[in-house]
Amino acid sequence: MKNLKWAKKSILTSMTVALSLMAATASADTGTAHIKIGSISGGASSITYWVDSSVASYGQNGGVDNAISKWDAASSGISFSSASSSTAKLKVYAGEYSLPANVYGETSYWYFNGQQIGAGAITNGQNYEVARVVIDAGWTSGWEQSERYMNAGHEIGHVLGLNHFENAPAHSGDHWMKSGKYKLTSPTATDLAHVRTKWGW
Ligand SMILES: [Zn+2]
Ligand SMILES: [Zn+2]
Repeated sequence: MKNLKWAKKSILTSMTVALSLMAATASADTGTAHIKIGSISGGASSITYWVDSSVASYGQNGGVDNAISKWDAASSGISFSSASSSTAKLKVYAGEYSLPANVYGETSYWYFNGQQIGAGAITNGQNYEVARVVIDAGWTSGWEQSERYMNAGHEIGHVLGLNHFENAPAHSGDHWMKSGKYKLTSPTATDLAHVRTKWGW
């Protein structure tokens, strides 16, 4: 799922959509709009990860390290352990303007055999074996560290089974899983509530 910066011309459309969703989602905020039915193989408690050298090369290691450690510490049900590039379920990369314009980060879903699975299929229940996260150092150049933390935490949130949520009143305020750019160094209670619902804790 892409973390898109809203274009000005789409704000009016987005506001209209958000308003129409408010009534439906205020009391039913844990549906597939916010939580993927499909899961990473082995679940949240056994995620092996590998970080490519490009992450440090582009100065994104602080955000990625923080994302993994904060999510790991958020619940006993979440556990990350490092592994080799060939066996890791989560692989993290960085690039510079390698993603489409103003896409800050991207998570894609795969089988070990290299076949990609669409994000929509994951939302609708397809499980996957490998997640690839790309952080874009170009579109996020000049960001503060707390904003890099949010960006990396957001993408790892997708790996944990979350989609975006930002609709008020149930999801008012900033969260790691809100689209955009925010100064937020840890997942919020709302982020955690969705992870708990996802994994049934
Ligand atoms: Zn996203
Ligand atoms: Zn929700």
